[in-house]
Parts: sequence; C-alpha cells; structure tokens
Amino acid sequence: MNSRIGRRDAALSSHSRRAGRKSIAALHIAHPLPAKLDLVALQGKKTRNVVQILLTNAQIVDATLAEPVGGHVLIEDGIIKDIATRPRAAAGRMMIDLKGRTLMPGLIDCHVHVVASMMNLGANAALADTTALLRCLPILRGYLDRGFTTVRDVGGAMFPLADAIAQGLAVGPRLIQCGKALSRTGGHTDYRERHDARDPDRYQTKFGVLGRIADGVDEVRRAARQELRQGAQFIKIMANGGVSSPTDPIAWQGYSEDEMRVAVQEAADAQTYVSAHLYTSEAIARAVRCGVYSLEHCNLIDAATAKLAAEAGCVAVPTLVTFEALAEDGPRLGLPPASIAKIEDVRQGGMASLAILRDAGVVMAYGTDLLGETQSRQNEEFAIRARVLDSRSILASATTIAAKLIGMEGRLGVVAPGAIADLLVVDGNPLENVALLANPARNILAVIQGGQVYRSAGLTK
Ligand SMILES: [Zn+2]
Repeated sequence: MNSRIGRRDAALSSHSRRAGRKSIAALHIAHPLPAKLDLVALQGKKTRNVVQILLTNAQIVDATLAEPVGGHVLIEDGIIKDIATRPRAAAGRMMIDLKGRTLMPGLIDCHVHVVASMMNLGANAALADTTALLRCLPILRGYLDRGFTTVRDVGGAMFPLADAIAQGLAVGPRLIQCGKALSRTGGHTDYRERHDARDPDRYQTKFGVLGRIADGVDEVRRAARQELRQGAQFIKIMANGGVSSPTDPIAWQGYSEDEMRVAVQEAADAQTYVSAHLYTSEAIARAVRCGVYSLEHCNLIDAATAKLAAEAGCVAVPTLVTFEALAEDGPRLGLPPASIAKIEDVRQGGMASLAILRDAGVVMAYGTDLLGETQSRQNEEFAIRARVLDSRSILASATTIAAKLIGMEGRLGVVAPGAIADLLVVDGNPLENVALLANPARNILAVIQGGQVYRSAGLTK
C-alpha cells in the first residue's frame, strides 16, 4: 500500500518543484517565543554563498534509536547529507554549534483541519472564502512554531493551499491533504440544524467547509473521483456519528458497506487509501472489513475490534486532546449545545483506547483534530499519551509512523542521510521524556524546515 501512496505523493511534489520553491525565511514573521539559543547567523545574515550548513555537537534523537547519538549533521540543498562530518570549516559552509543539545526530526501531525478557524464548524463553513483563508494563515504558522513541519489535513484543505505553501506564498508546514471529506446526508459534515432543509451542496466547495455530502455508491464514486482529480492525496470518509455535527448521534453508522467499498476501490485505483472518522467498535469493524486503512479517533474500540484492525495492518490515529479542548473550551468558544451534549460519549473512552490499541499491536500515529482557538493545544497530546504509552512509541507516532502513513518513509521523520532536513533543536531527551514536547515554547529552541530556519529562539525581539 505504501509504495502506491509514495508514487502519488512524488507526482504532487514534483509539481510543486516545477512551480519553484521560494525561501521560507524570506517570509518569516516574528513570534512570541523566548530567546535561548542563538541561531541568528543562519537566518539574519546573507546566506547567498552558503551551500552547506553543518550543525555540530548535536545529540541526535529519532525513534529508530534507543538513545541519543552524538553527531555533526551536514545539510545541503535542504537534504541531510551526512550525520558524522568532521567539524571543520570549508568554503561555502556555515557551522552552527548546538553545544550538545538534541537534534530531532520535525514533528508530523496526522489529523488536523487547517481551515477550522472556528469551533462552530457550521459557522466556519459559511465564512466568505477570503475570510476563511486569512483566518487559516496564523493557524499554519502556529503549527510550525510548535515544531510541526508536516501536517496531514483530514478534511477541508485542498491542493491549492498545499501548493501555495510549497511555493512559499504562505508560511506553513508541508501539507498533505484529502480535499473535502465525504459524508452521508445527516452525517458528520452535514452542519444543517434539523429545521434547515436547504441544499447542503451550497457550501460543499467553500474554503472553510471540512466536507461534502455524497449518498449512494454512484455519488460516493463521483465525489471521490472529483477530490482525487483536484489533487487529494487520499480519501476521507465520515464513517460514524460525530461531536461537531448537530444531527448524528455517535452510535450512528456513517456509510453502508457498499458506499465504503466504492470509496476504498476508487482510492486504490488512484494508488492511495481511505481514512475514516469513527469511534465505535461496530463502525471500526465495518470499516476494516471494507478495506479502510487509516482509522481516526477510535475512542470506543474494544479488544476484539482492535485485534481485527491489527491483523488488517491498519493505522490508528487517536486524537485525545481535542475532546479535552471541546469539554473545557467548547461552551466558551461557541460550540453548539447539540455538540456539547455528545462530548462525554467519546471523551471517557479515550484513555482506555490507547491501552487497548497498544495491547492489540495496532500501530498509532499522532493526531490532534483541534478546532478554532484550541489549535494552540496541539502539543498537549504528547503529555496525554505519555500517561499510558512509552516515550519512544509516542515519538515514533509523530515521526517514523506518521512519515510512513503519508508515504514519505525515510524522507521525513528521521535524522539520517537522504532525509529532508526538517529538524528541531530541543532542550532535553524526548526518548526519555516525550512529554517535554508538550511545552514547545520552553523546550523547542529552533525549527528548521527543508534546511531553512523557520524560527530560532535567538531571533525573538
Ligand atoms: Zn477530524
């Protein structure tokens, strides 16, 4: 499955290369993080003649290592060339002494909604496109500030936004996207209140909407093909009731087997996979039977269903922090009462699901699913998972496992020759205590993306 994803992804990124990638540093925007480590030389000075950057005296950490390894990491043309270069000056080489600090891969969040600038998703869908786009720009910068150099959007963002970031027209993480998610009438992206009988198609192409309605095998096939034609890198379906939609109780199934199978077939024909929103064991078992690969949330999974998912080789993407945020901040931030009433249905099962998935051997990727103003809580997921899971597996979820899920295994998520130079300079050892990543303002000292420094604490005015 993975090589199929890889080919499609390579095709999309070569489009971006042709379009011409501009310097992210040129678009740098000041950020409110404390000054600790001076990497100002990398960003502030003219670097026209610099063809190599050598990060010396690094303690290299990634999820393939049992413990940190000392090294000197050479970057050229946005790629890690070597991790054991002798620390010697050379023509065209800039040297930065990391003084024993941790150098680790940039983080990957596999469940975000970059266009969700409001918690009330119906109101978000109704925003003017220009407004929705402008509200999304600080969200994108926020991901980078917190160390997420790649995100997988699972409903809302479309190819033009990913391409704009790749070209340097907008500052943000590498964006993997599926276009608009598919939902049945009355499903998780049908935001109409019960009294509203207007056609939901009126908002299905809007910038701020997360999904579109497609009912029946033919409509699901057509919608999947339309999203793929427009550049979707995978297909997202809403396969269970949800919290942030008004008329679908959590226990409702989202799609029939026929509808789900056609989505899986269309995705497979386009060399990619289906990701499904779901909570209950019934919904998860049906999705696994139909060939769904990426299982989002999974809060209410039982041991037998987790075993099925493990045997099928599925990846689970828990998103526990969003249920904390919905419960704590939802009422204040405009979450509708019908949604507030559903939060506890899924929140309480969340912590247990981590242990059930782990014990069944289901691979887990890092996800957050935060909406509106709560997007800033993105790194709290590290601390929540650390109550149940070990540090190394949590680090893997946001690096190696995530990279595999998006078809970029070996290119992202590791500090190794040949990988893209998406790197973080960190205080402390995440292999020992991954929860330190939950406080990016204090512990993530610098964010490097594609060999360009997006931020270093030394830049803070
Ligand atoms: Zn979601």
